Amino acid sequence: MRTVYVNGIFCPENQAVVSVFDRGFLFADGVYEVTSVLGGRLIDFSGHMARLRRSLDELSMAAPAGEDELLSIHRQLVDKNGLDEGMIYLQVTRGSADRDFLYPPEDTPASLVLFTQAANLRARPQVQTGIRVVTVPDLRWQRRDIKTVQLLYPSMAKMEAKRRGADDAWLVEDEVITEGTSNNAYIVTADGKLITRPLSHSILHGITRTAILRLAAEHGVPVEERPFTVEEAKQSREAFVTSASTFVMPVVQIDEAVIGEGSPGPIARKLRTIYLEEAERTAI
Ligand code: PMP
Repeated sequence: MRTVYVNGIFCPENQAVVSVFDRGFLFADGVYEVTSVLGGRLIDFSGHMARLRRSLDELSMAAPAGEDELLSIHRQLVDKNGLDEGMIYLQVTRGSADRDFLYPPEDTPASLVLFTQAANLRARPQVQTGIRVVTVPDLRWQRRDIKTVQLLYPSMAKMEAKRRGADDAWLVEDEVITEGTSNNAYIVTADGKLITRPLSHSILHGITRTAILRLAAEHGVPVEERPFTVEEAKQSREAFVTSASTFVMPVVQIDEAVIGEGSPGPIARKLRTIYLEEAERTAI
């Protein structure tokens, strides 16, 4: 049984409790982060903490603890669970208060929950085959740059993908791809340029995305940050997604269109290798 963290206490997962009045539960009034663990060490921890601070600021939510304390909690969870490879999920909510659309008083303590999920991140079988995605309308709210726990629509989109025999969905707004249900989306054009949407309120500012764009530029892959249409994606030479838990995952089919040779492309494979080398070298 896992040891989890809830509001100052480490306890067995079946003894952890949060209030029925928690605003995360009643209003999805909470934000989260997912940090990967490789060899018992945290990947890009400071990036995740910087984004957490930004999400909290955007929602006028108090930080539950300083970065040093959060690092210590992450490390204790790794130790207590003997976690070698997997993820640490962290969630902060605006705390517990009688149900009211207005925020509770500012001195209401935030809720803080963390737990581990063991997973074979490096050896996911889909890395070899690539994944298939279907396109669905992006019906999420207009502040996707804030990493809130309101994940019902991405969850519905992923179920729709499953129903249609695919692995994931790419979300479409005004004919262009915004991102995947839980990842950022990229294509490679016939002349070898890596294309992904620029940062805005329309997408989550992926921590992996930042690293991948920097590594691509450093390794001579030309990068263009611009929106791309569904049609352009279907004609692309390669496609892939990035996230903290999948790193770089090749996409080999978009709706009915097979991408490239129908197998993971060389740029996606190269970026995955380079990313993993750096991630493991700089993990803390
Ligand atoms: N977009 C969305 C909608 C996501 O949920 C995620 C993963 N949390 C990402 C992009 C990728 O972000 P990161 O690389 O920081 O995991």
